[in-house]
Amino acid sequence: MAQGAESVRAVAITGPAAAGKTTLLEALLFASGAVPRQGDVAAGASIGDSSPEARHRGQSVELNLAGIEFLGDRFSLVDCPGSSDFGSMADNVLPAVDLVVVVVDPQPAKAILAQPILKTLERLNIPHAIFVNKIEQARDRLDELLQALQAASGLPVVARQIPLYDGERINGFIDLALERGFIYRPGQPSARVDLTEENAAEEAEARFHMLEQLADYDDVLLEKLLSDIEPTPEEVFGDLAAELREDKIVPVFLGSALNGFGIRRLLKALRHEAPSSEAAAQRIGADGPSAYVFAVSHAGQAGKLALARVLGGGLQDGADLRLADGGHHRAGGILAINGGSTKKVPAALPGEIVAVAKIDEAVSGDLLSADGRSRPARREAKRAPLFAQGIQAKERKDDVRLAAALTKLLEEDTSLSVRRDPVTLQTLLEGQGPTHLETTMDRLKRRFGLDVVSARPTVAYRESIRKPVTQHGRHKKQSGGHGQFGDVLVEIKPGARGSGFTFSQRITGGAVPKQWIPAVEQGLKDAMERGPLGFPVVDVEAVLIDGGYHSVDSSEMSFRAAGRLAMSEGLRQCAPYLLEPIEKLVISAPSSSTPKITAAVAARRGQILGFEPKADWPNWDVIEAYMPEEHRQDFILELRGLTQGLGSFEAAFDHMAELTGRLADDVVARQSKTVKA
Ligand code: GDP
Repeated sequence: MAQGAESVRAVAITGPAAAGKTTLLEALLFASGAVPRQGDVAAGASIGDSSPEARHRGQSVELNLAGIEFLGDRFSLVDCPGSSDFGSMADNVLPAVDLVVVVVDPQPAKAILAQPILKTLERLNIPHAIFVNKIEQARDRLDELLQALQAASGLPVVARQIPLYDGERINGFIDLALERGFIYRPGQPSARVDLTEENAAEEAEARFHMLEQLADYDDVLLEKLLSDIEPTPEEVFGDLAAELREDKIVPVFLGSALNGFGIRRLLKALRHEAPSSEAAAQRIGADGPSAYVFAVSHAGQAGKLALARVLGGGLQDGADLRLADGGHHRAGGILAINGGSTKKVPAALPGEIVAVAKIDEAVSGDLLSADGRSRPARREAKRAPLFAQGIQAKERKDDVRLAAALTKLLEEDTSLSVRRDPVTLQTLLEGQGPTHLETTMDRLKRRFGLDVVSARPTVAYRESIRKPVTQHGRHKKQSGGHGQFGDVLVEIKPGARGSGFTFSQRITGGAVPKQWIPAVEQGLKDAMERGPLGFPVVDVEAVLIDGGYHSVDSSEMSFRAAGRLAMSEGLRQCAPYLLEPIEKLVISAPSSSTPKITAAVAARRGQILGFEPKADWPNWDVIEAYMPEEHRQDFILELRGLTQGLGSFEAAFDHMAELTGRLADDVVARQSKTVKA
């Protein structure tokens, strides 16, 4: 049912990269009269994608928000970025909208690109429809596309329209619920046409199929179909709306965002069939007047803005809002958002998406309550990082400013993280891919004026030893006054893998006085920080077996020095070798690319551990493999290249493995260069 102007429904537009999401947003704005001309993404003149980073890349890198009114109904629209690098921007907003429109290309081969988003929407129980865009370019029969979409969707895809053809080209459609034909007209509402006999026969067949699909969830309708009774239009529209609301079916609409085809039809469907906000409120646990923060922005003049959907009532400027932790804040301004521009408004309507100013503690996922209660935050699980870069301010004096800027960017983008590697001590920026991190670097430069240098993450190589040795170490200095003297005999031998360093002693007769034995151990450890190959040494066992001291000249310092000498001299004679970190990868990708992925893993010195079909994902596999960290670092690029951008993985350190031969020689040569430099 149409809802009237007192409440606003929220619709997200999502789908694979370049399917036409931003163009669809522009088309909806134009068709509803919100803008006088349709913005052009290709010309960089759209309401959406207004940030320099988005314009520069010609793709969405953040959420685009806009409001429209159509025949008295109001909608808040959210255009979500589609590429794998930025997909996570939508994670928090999708559960908070009433309907998601998934924009797809008309080529059947591209239907699989929508599978990850369809699976996410199914998992979260979010009602969604498909908009087949670029219909003027379609050359394949629609049946093939519907079959391909059905293979990607766990819910029945229900064609709401079938195309009308002018020769090869689609020039209009028949609406299967209305049973009427329309011819597309560029930039104008479609024109009604009478159906030919042939069209009518095709329509009857397609409509019957649609009704059968609806009857799967409606016994009354099933009875009617079995008894050859024609259902009333109200029954058909009622079922379409109810089964969409309950996330049982995925209706499919056709059109062309660029040409304005099928846009008013889509708006009418939104008007009649988009669910009201109760289900979204329930999904995110907003059981009273509140604002759900799905993103924050530090980008504009207004300071920090919380982008939020208002649920369970309206929201007044100045309202007292309570956070999950019980703290209160006054809403310091409510702003309506249209692409890059904002406008102060006195209040937000129920269901509306707005920006709330001056709630500095709010982060993505928070529920700001307007009734004095506290409601827990609701956050989608963070996406695991797929790509990392070492980063550093170009000038040391900017270190503090860099840390502050990163804190802001991390708040805006929850799939970004920063950590200091405990082994290499490098600061790592981690995200969803190279483009994601480049965009972050652009923002650091443009918004915060920071010059940042990046580097490949340093691989934490280690070394160990193959042979045992018994090594003598003597530290002796006589330079006027007090001398220094310490003497140790140490057995050094290979330890078990993963044992690190183990120390014991078999001193008899006080050859090394007890109080200095810990200093010997410390000296041994000191020398292991940098072994003969240039890396920290691990998996070594040392036994202090003998030694000697001087009653005046011996000290803690001299025994530490003796231990250090024994170890650094000894390691050289123990046949040192290199160890490299190996990660375990769990890769998820379409089965058609499994052979190519297997080959790519092998080419990166990886080892396939096995693969099996991905549960509930027809035509997808899960592949497990070991891969040296060195080669995993940019694997996401190759994986996406092999899988039309669909492949992904989770990686975790698994074990250290020996690295030998020329590869090891190269690593050692590189290390000796960096140490000298
Ligand atoms: P998004 O990445 O999904 O937001 O896609 P965009 O809206 O940026 O569109 C990607 C490209 O497809 C742009 O060059 C658009 O002009 C073009 N495009 C969008 N819709 C249509 C359409 O209906 N027909 C055709 N031929 N091109 C379209």
